[in-house]
Amino acid sequence: MAEKCTLCWGYGLWAIGDEVPMGPIDFEDGEPNKKCPECGSGRK
Ligand SMILES: [Zn+2]
Repeated sequence: MAEKCTLCWGYGLWAIGDEVPMGPIDFEDGEPNKKCPECGSGRK
């Protein structure tokens, strides 16, 4: 993806709690996230 997604910022959304964007540090730490419906980022 060329530009950062405005919904998840490119790192997917938190799987737990509110659907808020995950930051790059948490993403690399392997925190559970879910795919962004907008751009498809996220592992699960
Ligand atoms: Zn996204």
